[in-house]
Amino acid sequence: MKTDDLSWVLKTIYSQGHASRTGLAERGKLAPSHVSVLVAELRRRGLIEEGGHTPSRAGRRRVLLRVVPHLAHLIGIRIGRANTRIVVTDFLGKVLSLRRIPTEIAKGEDHVLKLLDREIESALQRDRSVKGIGIAVSGVIDRNAGKVLFWPKVPGWSDVPIKQIIHRKYSLPVIIEDSVRTMALVEKRFGDAKARSNFVYVLVSMGIGAAIFVNGQLYLGADDLAGELGHTTIDERGDICSCGNRGCLEVYASGSAIISRVKSGLEQGVHSSLAPLVEKHPERLSIEAIVSAAKARDQFTHTVLWEAGLHLGTGLATMVNLLNPEAIVLGGEIPRVAKTLILRPLFHSFRGRTFQRSVRNLKMLLSRLGGETGAVGAAILVAEMLLAGLL
Ligand SMILES: [Zn+2]
Repeated sequence: MKTDDLSWVLKTIYSQGHASRTGLAERGKLAPSHVSVLVAELRRRGLIEEGGHTPSRAGRRRVLLRVVPHLAHLIGIRIGRANTRIVVTDFLGKVLSLRRIPTEIAKGEDHVLKLLDREIESALQRDRSVKGIGIAVSGVIDRNAGKVLFWPKVPGWSDVPIKQIIHRKYSLPVIIEDSVRTMALVEKRFGDAKARSNFVYVLVSMGIGAAIFVNGQLYLGADDLAGELGHTTIDERGDICSCGNRGCLEVYASGSAIISRVKSGLEQGVHSSLAPLVEKHPERLSIEAIVSAAKARDQFTHTVLWEAGLHLGTGLATMVNLLNPEAIVLGGEIPRVAKTLILRPLFHSFRGRTFQRSVRNLKMLLSRLGGETGAVGAAILVAEMLLAGLL
């Protein structure tokens, strides 16, 4: 029996979630009898099982196969600038436990490493089936070296070999990945991008990033740097960005940009209902506070959000003109919290800057997945890695 075929069947069942024998034969252009033999072998080895049927339409109901969910459990972690989320999942990415803890990233790498240690230790004590750890990071990483290179706008954090540190301590396989990509992976596996081949996932949070899927595959770029949408230029003579360049989209449309624009406006004495809050508790100025002021007809915050939305629309239009995707999935707290306050100006500038033909069939979708998405994606990546070693 060819290991290649066996491995293809296992990977395909895993990446699709479910597959029928007939579906596998059609997709892999394999003889149905050959697929039956491969499936029997994978079942004999305890890697896959039968679970459910195809929906009963006119044809015959087909038995669906899936990878055994409790083959191994995994820890998925997403270290964000504000919060760190830790999940334990089964092999298929179903969340078994979830924790959300403030990262306090300004306290430095030692503080964050201690936090990871504490959480991994306690997860391993509770669940002896954990066989790997995936870590998604919103800072800039070197995936192959397993390092966090730096964190934009955060002092410290220079070349932290996080993968090596965790692997050495727990002797488990560890993967690190950019969190925009782990979120996009979950969107493709379980979300609105399921079954889409050419789409872009755009995260609009404190920073802005994108993950580009071409023909069903994540496009990495020659140096693994594809998707830096936040650092495409909106204004050649604009303000300096954390990356060192001028006028990047992130300077105008990210959560950090929105907060800093509101702050500097208030410092210059612009009239706004947020002025008393910022005077007494500047640290409480958040996206939520800005959005609720704008909703309550505060003109200044409304304008700041409107302008951020216009810039975001411009950035997305450039991307659509370049890539002509079938869908854009918008994730992150800015679209989720601000909704129409950002989306209305976004569409306004977007429509004016794209070819009608390239947007005629384009789906613009608001992600419906939760805050744990990045951590779940990291766990799935580890599962995929383990899967390759199971045959
Ligand atoms: Zn930049």
